[in-house]
Amino acid sequence: MGLEWDSRLSLVAGSAAASLEKAFGYRTVGDLLTHYPRRYVDKGSVSDLGSLRLDEQITVVARVQRSEQRAYPDRRRGGMAYRLEVTVATEQDTLVLTFFDKRKHLADWRARTITEGSTGLFSGKVGRFRDRWQLTNPQTKLFAAQSGEAGEAGADRALAEFEEMPNLLTIYPATAALQSWQIGDTVTLALEMLERVPDTLPEPVRVAHGLVTAEQALRWVHRPDSWAQKGAAEKRLRFEEAFVTQTILVQRRARLQGLQATPRPGRADGLLDRFAQRLPFTLTAGQVDVGQEILGDLAAPHPMHRLLQGEVGSGKTVVALQAMLRVVDSGGQAALLAPTEVLAQQHHRSLTALLGDLAAGGMLGGDAEGTQVGLLTGSMGAAARRSTLLDVASGAVGLVVGTHALLEDLVQFADLGLVVVDEQHRFGVEQRAALSAKARNRTPHVLVMTATPIPRTVAMTVFGDLETSTLVELPRGRAPIQTTVVGLLDHPDWVQRVWARIREEVGAGRQCYVVCPRIGDGATQVSAEESPAQDPDVSPKVSPRAGPKVRSGDSADSPGSDEPVPPAGVEETAAMLEAGPLSDLKVARLHGRLSAEDKESTMRAFSVGEVDVLVATTVIEVGVDVANATTMVILDADRFGVSQLHQLRGRVGRGEHGGLCLLLTRADVESPAGERLAAVAGTTDGFALSRLDLEQRREGDVLGATQSGRRSGLRLLSVIRHEDVIVAARAAASEVVAVDQELGDHPDLARAVARLHESEQADYLEKA
Ligand code: ADP
Ligand code: MG
Repeated sequence: MGLEWDSRLSLVAGSAAASLEKAFGYRTVGDLLTHYPRRYVDKGSVSDLGSLRLDEQITVVARVQRSEQRAYPDRRRGGMAYRLEVTVATEQDTLVLTFFDKRKHLADWRARTITEGSTGLFSGKVGRFRDRWQLTNPQTKLFAAQSGEAGEAGADRALAEFEEMPNLLTIYPATAALQSWQIGDTVTLALEMLERVPDTLPEPVRVAHGLVTAEQALRWVHRPDSWAQKGAAEKRLRFEEAFVTQTILVQRRARLQGLQATPRPGRADGLLDRFAQRLPFTLTAGQVDVGQEILGDLAAPHPMHRLLQGEVGSGKTVVALQAMLRVVDSGGQAALLAPTEVLAQQHHRSLTALLGDLAAGGMLGGDAEGTQVGLLTGSMGAAARRSTLLDVASGAVGLVVGTHALLEDLVQFADLGLVVVDEQHRFGVEQRAALSAKARNRTPHVLVMTATPIPRTVAMTVFGDLETSTLVELPRGRAPIQTTVVGLLDHPDWVQRVWARIREEVGAGRQCYVVCPRIGDGATQVSAEESPAQDPDVSPKVSPRAGPKVRSGDSADSPGSDEPVPPAGVEETAAMLEAGPLSDLKVARLHGRLSAEDKESTMRAFSVGEVDVLVATTVIEVGVDVANATTMVILDADRFGVSQLHQLRGRVGRGEHGGLCLLLTRADVESPAGERLAAVAGTTDGFALSRLDLEQRREGDVLGATQSGRRSGLRLLSVIRHEDVIVAARAAASEVVAVDQELGDHPDLARAVARLHESEQADYLEKA
């Protein structure tokens, strides 16, 4: 029996299989063959050490002149670590190679292989150490190493071996224990032994897009003879990645359209009509259009799956409320799922307020046909919780707002017709699925709302089974937010002007937020609530190594100490403001370590104006809505992601007064961090910022896959750069699925789809 795509890796990799699984999670031959080279080196361009530049990637053929192992105490881990210092020479010059190993057996193995007189190919990034050029942990291939030949004979053999290598050398992502060259050898063997390369692209699709076969692509990506071959291979493989992903999404959408849902056509003079009559403002044209779209979806006998995106303040909540009322008018219930307790409480308050007596159904003074709005969060007392649960189960509560507490098994609905998920980017797909499962035999309609604008291709890839609607305009009369970067590195005294500005605003009757990256007071980590795993950008980067070099505002700091100043914390900052610059104002704190009641009462006090200045973590990022708050000061703003800053500042300027956002930073304004802040200050276009944000993240992060250390499955496709490929693949996949939904005529594609389902990637694609 020959080697197949799904064969176990050990059949070809032997003992390296375990290392490959450990390092990359690979189990099959197919996994290995989709481990594409990270870099290609033209053999002709192998460097001669003539003119090295810092950070340049080089590959050299050189001879080892000296090789010496040193052991040193490893301060971070304890115990010893090892360093192999090697000097290699070409005919022109010498270069230092330094290899670091934590484990002795690896270090010893390295010292035994890289010995004086041996010749090898070394590849890495040029660094500088003690005035000499150096490569740190370069990828290394020694020639004729086994034979132990040294001297002239060895050098000759090495040269011959080098001559025999292909024109383009491939450098693979590798680890200390598993060298690029070893991986390359295993790949070569697998390519030779493989019986048949499955081809996921239907022939007409492949031909129509001018792509090479899978077999050709695989050989060319791993063993190209020319850059043209490498390019053709990548083009094909990239398309294939998009095509398989899109096939899954198109299939899923087709299946959803085949599911049954209870139509919710509403009724005349119901809650929705009466609510519309009493709205205190005119809906924007966008709100009207999107509202109609959604009501249309709800009336259909198939489940709605719609993504509603719109800037902070664009009025998504009102649109969602209309949809929820329509469902109640049709005899069903609606659930609104919020990512944090603060936001759930806020939604509960604002829905109740918007509905007025319509939300007091069955109560004295309430509307006879009105409904009730329930709240369900994790920290509620047992009695309140039990009573809400009963009302949800009996149907007395038509609208229920909650956090993930809504997802627990105990919560049973009388007739759940609609699930609204607010701020999607913080919600896992599994959580949405859990709530859908509560509608027993019929699938509820689902509306997902997000304020983080999602570029089209990301939407197509991540939410490809959802229809999307976008609210582009903000309600009229909204004054724009002015954003300014305050660089404290050069002007430490400016911080005093910032506090003076806050005093002025409060003097004029307004309120302010001061946002800090940390809770502080000894707690270096923010709570899980504030830093959900879904958004890697949320967790402040407090690691002193990763953080930018910051200098304290006052230079009384102990000189010579290299310890970076920790980012601002809520507790210290509030205490400092109360004791000094804002001592005459009412300052309050809000963060995830407070109890739910404290959070609730603080928010309430702030929203009725009893608190002037709210010092908070990103807990206020989403949804908090206090129209009288006009100024936001963000401390150590460089610690936040671009989209997050945009979200945060959306909290001010919600009323008729113009908003002001001050981004304070101790980072150099010329540094990349400083430039990011300048970009935020320079535009209020959320889409542009979201793109910038995505570009700075790794692809897997964009897809939300790496937070749990999982692989995104996309190697060559970038959802940011390859929009055209995704669009073309989407169209091709739609055509194929339209004719053959379950892919009976496309067994290779069906298998690739099944593999993707099984792989962890399916976790984030899976929504059903
Ligand atoms: P989002 O959830 O999209 O951030 P909200 O729905 O919370 O926005 O709306 C923000 C604020 O604007 C709320 O106070 C809301 O009542 C108000 N609002 C919504 N639509 C309009 C409109 N058409 N005209 C004026 N104000 C509006
Ligand atoms: Mg909102």
